[in-house]
Amino acid sequence: AVDDAESGVHAFLHINAEEALAVASEVDAIRAAGGAEAQALHPLAGVPIAVKDLIVTKGQPTTAGSAMLKGWMSPYDATVIEKIRAAKLPILGKTNLDEFAQGSSTEHSAYGNTRNPWDLNRIPGGSGGGSAAAVAAFEAPLALGTDTGGSIRQPGAVTGTVGAKPTYGAVSRYGAIAMASSLDQIGPVTRTVLDSALLQELIGGHDPKDSTSLPEPVPALSDAARLGAAGDLTGVRVGVIDELGGEGYEEGVKARFEESLELLKARGAEIVTVSCPHFKYALSAYYLIMPSEMSSNLAKFDGVRYGQRVLPESGPVTIERVMGATRAAGFGDEVKRRIILGTYALSAGYYDAYYGSAQKVRTLIQRDFEAAFQSADVLVSPTSPTVAFELGAKIDDPLAMYLNDIATIPANLAGVPGISVPGGLSEGLPVGIQFLAPAHEDARMYRVAAALE
Ligand code: GLN
Repeated sequence: AVDDAESGVHAFLHINAEEALAVASEVDAIRAAGGAEAQALHPLAGVPIAVKDLIVTKGQPTTAGSAMLKGWMSPYDATVIEKIRAAKLPILGKTNLDEFAQGSSTEHSAYGNTRNPWDLNRIPGGSGGGSAAAVAAFEAPLALGTDTGGSIRQPGAVTGTVGAKPTYGAVSRYGAIAMASSLDQIGPVTRTVLDSALLQELIGGHDPKDSTSLPEPVPALSDAARLGAAGDLTGVRVGVIDELGGEGYEEGVKARFEESLELLKARGAEIVTVSCPHFKYALSAYYLIMPSEMSSNLAKFDGVRYGQRVLPESGPVTIERVMGATRAAGFGDEVKRRIILGTYALSAGYYDAYYGSAQKVRTLIQRDFEAAFQSADVLVSPTSPTVAFELGAKIDDPLAMYLNDIATIPANLAGVPGISVPGGLSEGLPVGIQFLAPAHEDARMYRVAAALE
């Protein structure tokens, strides 16, 4: 059945069947033997997990969805992978993504697109479309994604799965191939909010290998999810963000959003409206900050250190010319477009006007959040303005593609946690509802999300 699903959906770039089966059998044997070792098993031991192919894994290829890293094997495991191995979750394989996590549809993968299991002619979201499609198609009960501007939450929304971006620093980024380091976070993709909380508890916590890792211990997220699932939100103030959900949002998305608010009210929550006036500049700020950081992070793919090396077709073989030939052949159009944007924004004479201004906008967005959280405990919005669109619909129109992330990007700019949960269907396709909480308050987010589920 999984093979059938996979042939239609193409969620995976690499399948790790042998090792996954060996880990599953080991857990079975421990359980069968009983005793202290069985008692000590992690609650998720034996539950298979799929991993976005941006996260490095020993013994399996890591491609980042790019021809640049075709056949590349990491010599080490990401911290989240070490934790997953220690807890004995079988790793099913590596999932498809937009090249270097840049995109909203998984169509920018160098290895073919992934399809949405709800309608194979539609996109599964992106950049982590493979992880979301694997979970939605019942190929994997758990998956890992990365979220720089929405790449866990938007695929979650359009595939009817749960996708969570933890507080910046709550999960180690060590071993996640960096896109934009001040925005990137690893997080869970699951079928339920409780699974998401359990998985974040497992992968979270301080890591000395990541200098931005938070020092504090992981909060009791699964307890919060269980509390929320009991259904009582009395005393919880849920803020509807005035700037997210109006113009440009599909009618079906708005209708499901309104119903979700009714449900939250029925659970005892107080619905308030908050204004975040600078959110309208979030997309512009993101498309300066993200490419600036990304162009610098991707400078290491030089044809010398990692992956592909392409020699010039003719002429002298100098370092510069090898680098040029390698990057011309190794990177796809979207990555090149953004490298050009980023290097331009950082160049002398333009730095203050572009990167500098974007950083100021980022601060204003953080202040919008701070003000909003004065009058609300959590914030709520649709995760994405549209349901899954058709394959090819936006591939030639970068701006239309970028606009799909309008509701998810502010959380990355401010470092706050966000989660997308299924909020019903519009014309047969899933709609996602996003909850945002203050930084370090992931437990609060899980509680309210579990109450809506
Ligand atoms: N879709 C957004 C982008 O293209 C977000 C990417 C991400 O979160 N990795 O940049």
